[in-house]
Amino acid sequence: MTNEELREQLLAAPKNGYAALTQAQRAEMEDYCKRYAAFMDRCKTEREATAWTVATAEAHGFRPLVPGMEIHPGDKVYHNNRGKSILLAVIGSESLAKGANICAAHVDSPRLDVKPNPLYEDSQIAYLKTHYYGGIKKYQWPTIPLAIHGVVCRKDGAAVLVNIGEEDTDPVLMVSDLLPHLAADQMKKTMAEGIVGEQLNVIVGTEPLRGEGSDMTKLHIMKLLNEKYGLIESDFLSAELTIVPAGKCREVGLDRSLLAAYGHDDRVCAYAEIEPLLTMATPTHTAVCILADKEEIGSVGVSGMQSHAFEYFMELLCDAQGVKLAECFAHSFCLSADVSNAFDPNFPEVHDRRNNSQLNYGVAICKYTGSRGKGGASDASAEAMGHVRATLDKAGVVWQIATLGKVDQGGGGTVAAYMANRNIVTVDAGVPVMSMHAPMELVSKLDCYMTMLACKAIYLA
Ligand code: MN
Ligand code: MN
Repeated sequence: MTNEELREQLLAAPKNGYAALTQAQRAEMEDYCKRYAAFMDRCKTEREATAWTVATAEAHGFRPLVPGMEIHPGDKVYHNNRGKSILLAVIGSESLAKGANICAAHVDSPRLDVKPNPLYEDSQIAYLKTHYYGGIKKYQWPTIPLAIHGVVCRKDGAAVLVNIGEEDTDPVLMVSDLLPHLAADQMKKTMAEGIVGEQLNVIVGTEPLRGEGSDMTKLHIMKLLNEKYGLIESDFLSAELTIVPAGKCREVGLDRSLLAAYGHDDRVCAYAEIEPLLTMATPTHTAVCILADKEEIGSVGVSGMQSHAFEYFMELLCDAQGVKLAECFAHSFCLSADVSNAFDPNFPEVHDRRNNSQLNYGVAICKYTGSRGKGGASDASAEAMGHVRATLDKAGVVWQIATLGKVDQGGGGTVAAYMANRNIVTVDAGVPVMSMHAPMELVSKLDCYMTMLACKAIYLA
């Protein structure tokens, strides 16, 4: 055997996904990415993603799962967890005692949350005070157009939805930054300190009402909010208002091969999970799709992946089949569908190139995340990785390996550990993202499409 033949037989040779993409796949990919972009334009918070999913699932024949409900193979059910997280299932032909095939993504993203007592006036400028949510680089948030999304529970009990800054005719909001002419001291600070949390105050107005008083600009803003939404100042206390980048998902590159949007992490995997489920015929194993909240702050809270809401949903399904929940979990598999860090040639020093995901090389499978000595990682077994690899190969999905940067450079986690804690074999996989957690993140269309195909293959495994 020649060395060349040996090399071909023995050595791994990852290829750019475009090398083997057929014309039919390319057309499918473009259509898929158009639908994904439309989803991103509509859904910038976990609440909006949940509401969209409920409406879309209902339109595809999904029904709310209620205690005592009979379920049959092929049935499509969902559970709306308090408007902030959603669980869906297509019932398989096999009993749940044989386990479910689960895909779990999250629909919350880093952002600026409005504080409980946010509205104030300084120098006749009205501001909202914010508290950042998730891991952000604070200096990225001033001087970009911002929108406000969320819900306010008024004193009279009514819940009003707020969404300002997304329509072309809407005003946007903004955080200011210092002019370079006077930034001598600021520019000497570290990037972590150049803009601090308490400076992320969002300008909401500058025109004072006519009359006497030191709060006439604030009063003007409150008057506008009262006219539009019926709000009084104390209503901010019972509100979830979030400041997110304004604007739509855009194609990037002269070849249009990338997509820029706010919150690809992790709605790019959330969408990849939902779409194949909507039109799925009866699978062998029950297919379960999770869109979780609160991943960016540790999967905590009633809508986070550590919550018992998942057990509640799965137990209702298991009860209907007379199956023990523990039995179902023990035989289930979970793809923790979350994004990975795409190799960035501008910052080669933080990546291990041999083990990093790369744009256009397909869905990125990640054996472990965590930090330092794999601290906090789920660390999938050889068998679990083997299962994913074989499943994706069989389905013709382009995939690659991912790790979270160089050893000791930093780290992070996903919902994987919380799924594995439940005695469910779990592997991380998802779309490589450039500029992760920035106001606008970048992904490749090819990787988005391959991740959707991967979720589909896992459901049907
Ligand atoms: Mn994520
Ligand atoms: Mn994240």
